Parts: sequence; C-alpha cells; structure tokens
Amino acid sequence: MDPISILVGVGAVLLGQAIGYVQGRHHRAPKPIQAICGCGHGMSMHNAETGRCHGMMNGDPLKYDSDKEPTAYKQVPCTCQRYVGPLPIDQVFSPPLLPPSDSR
Ligand SMILES: [Zn+2]
Ligand SMILES: [Zn+2]
Repeated sequence: MDPISILVGVGAVLLGQAIGYVQGRHHRAPKPIQAICGCGHGMSMHNAETGRCHGMMNGDPLKYDSDKEPTAYKQVPCTCQRYVGPLPIDQVFSPPLLPPSDSR
C-alpha cells in the first residue's frame, strides 16, 4: 500500500471527526444573545449603577425632504431609565475557554 493513500485515508477520518466535533459543539452551544435594550441601545450604553441610558436618540425632526419625510432629527438624550433587554449569560459567567490543564 502506498503511503500517500494511507495518509489521505487517515486525513479523511480525522477531518470527519473534526467536522462532527464542531457540528456537535455548534448544536449544543447556546445562541448568542444580543444585549439590546428596548430603547435600541446596547447594555453598555446604560449606567451600571443607575441603569440610565446615556445614548442619544432621535427627537424632533429637523429637516424634511420633498416628500415631507424627515431626513434629520434633533439628537436628544435617550429617555430610557433602565436596561430591559436580555442579559448575555456568557458575559455574566464568562466560562473559561480552555479546558482545565490540571486534569492529568
Ligand atoms: Zn435602554
Ligand atoms: Zn437608550
């Protein structure tokens, strides 16, 4: 048997295992949650202590196009008082990405 076909065979088996492993992991992995508040701003835009959003949002229209559609808005501070969006669990617990090295 020539060594190249052995290598190809071994490579195919390893590749299949790798794909199965990745797909299995992918299947079990929880969906990434987008931490976006009801006000449309991300969780990082909200003060951790007071909960108030310090993002900007569209206020009164400033300019209109020929169809009377607003094209520019006055930017006003977001009125959101508290973050109400989903909490990203992976940010709360931050699990270790590497397997424990002391399992010998
Ligand atoms: Zn908010
Ligand atoms: Zn906001």
